[in-house]
Amino acid sequence: MGTSAPPSIVVVGSGLAGFGVLRELRKVSPEARLTLVTLEDGHFYSKPALSTALAKGKTAQTLITSTAEKMASQLRLDARIGRAAEAIDRAGKALLTTGGPVAYDALVLATGAMPVRPQIEGDAAHRAIAVNQLDHYARFRDELPVGARVLIMGSGLVGTEFANDLIQTGYRPVVVDMLPLPLAQLVPPAVGEKVRDALAAEGVEWHLGRKVVAIDYKAPAPGYVATLDNGTIVEADLVLSAVGLRPNVALAAEAGLDVGLGIKVDAHGRTSDPHIYAIGDCAEYPHGLSAYVTPIMAAARAIAPSALGTPTEIRFPPLSVQVKTTLLPINLLPPPRDAVGEWRCIEDDAQGSKHVFTDAEGRLRGYVLTHDKCEQRTTMDAQMGAKSGETV
Ligand SMILES: Cc1cc2nc3c(=O)[nH]c(=O)nc-3n(C[C@H](O)[C@H](O)[C@H](O)COP(=O)(O)OP(=O)(O)OC[C@H]3O[C@@H](n4cnc5c(N)ncnc54)[C@H](O)[C@@H]3O)c2cc1C
Repeated sequence: MGTSAPPSIVVVGSGLAGFGVLRELRKVSPEARLTLVTLEDGHFYSKPALSTALAKGKTAQTLITSTAEKMASQLRLDARIGRAAEAIDRAGKALLTTGGPVAYDALVLATGAMPVRPQIEGDAAHRAIAVNQLDHYARFRDELPVGARVLIMGSGLVGTEFANDLIQTGYRPVVVDMLPLPLAQLVPPAVGEKVRDALAAEGVEWHLGRKVVAIDYKAPAPGYVATLDNGTIVEADLVLSAVGLRPNVALAAEAGLDVGLGIKVDAHGRTSDPHIYAIGDCAEYPHGLSAYVTPIMAAARAIAPSALGTPTEIRFPPLSVQVKTTLLPINLLPPPRDAVGEWRCIEDDAQGSKHVFTDAEGRLRGYVLTHDKCEQRTTMDAQMGAKSGETV
């Protein structure tokens, strides 16, 4: 850093990425000055727990595992809670916030991603709740009537997990997705069918291969009326939107940093400005976006020493994920997006099923395990040179 004063590291964002890197920074450097700037309340919680919280009897409040005060005192942070980072003065090495400028030696952007808002007509389209942070979850719970019928737009990981959670706790989820099967981008069709059928058997209503074109208020009663593209009408007490996320790149883009789908970073997590790093859902790593917990933890372990002056490469373990559909437990490792190959079912019996994805050279590039076969995850990861992802 070139000065004798302890380095000043500023982190924007208090999600798993922001706190992940702050924890690592404090481990590496007891003396560094660490500042956290966040729009949120600054409490620590595990975001993946949002889609299993109903069945576990958790509220937004009880999902907090460490309060903002506790995090600030444990990590000795100068915590600027409820503040927005508005601009980066790169020449002056200062972050401009709604609470004033903060000087940095290194800046870490952990600004996450914003829920995608699909183009939907109707006077109540804006009422759809996208649960991507704790206060969204608090609103979801506040607006959820007992036994409610809940329209979920999107049957990816988040939408399907919410359907699984709602159906087991006395609610009536109705899932709409343009794709023909749930988890269609993660698992082969045979597994998507099993997920659809397992949740349908408990009462989940699916409208697959369809999209919501309008959401209007139901009159005179409370609730909503959604119209699908084939004219089907779906009535619901609440609407959840789980159609995807878009990395928050505005701050970086306005500062002139290289931005693609996310904030572009190199193998050290460094952006096109050597004093600025990016991590988590906002970052585009050399291999692409990676909006999961395991890559965040791997990146945090490298970015902390790098930001403190010891360049360290991120070592990403190939990522296996536990899908938290308790009605049909799944562990999977999705093949890389650009992998060319095919899925094959190699086991399907009373213990569950096992599918593998092999590429043109016959190399194992991904897998899906269901039910009791999930126990093979560690073996499969080892076989692929992978380390199991965090169980979240
Ligand atoms: C319901 C759900 C279930 C999931 N389940 C799993 C799972 O099972 N396994 C898994 O690996 N992953 C899962 N994920 C994904 C995983 O949770 C995310 O990849 C991870 O939490 C992202 O963390 P983050 O810190 O990058 O982003 P975020 O948590 O979005 O944090 C971004 C932070 O930046 C702050 N911020 C943004 N802009 C500004 C600004 N200008 N100024 C100040 N602050 C700003 C925000 O307020 C926020 O504090 C799940 C996600 C969801 C939504």
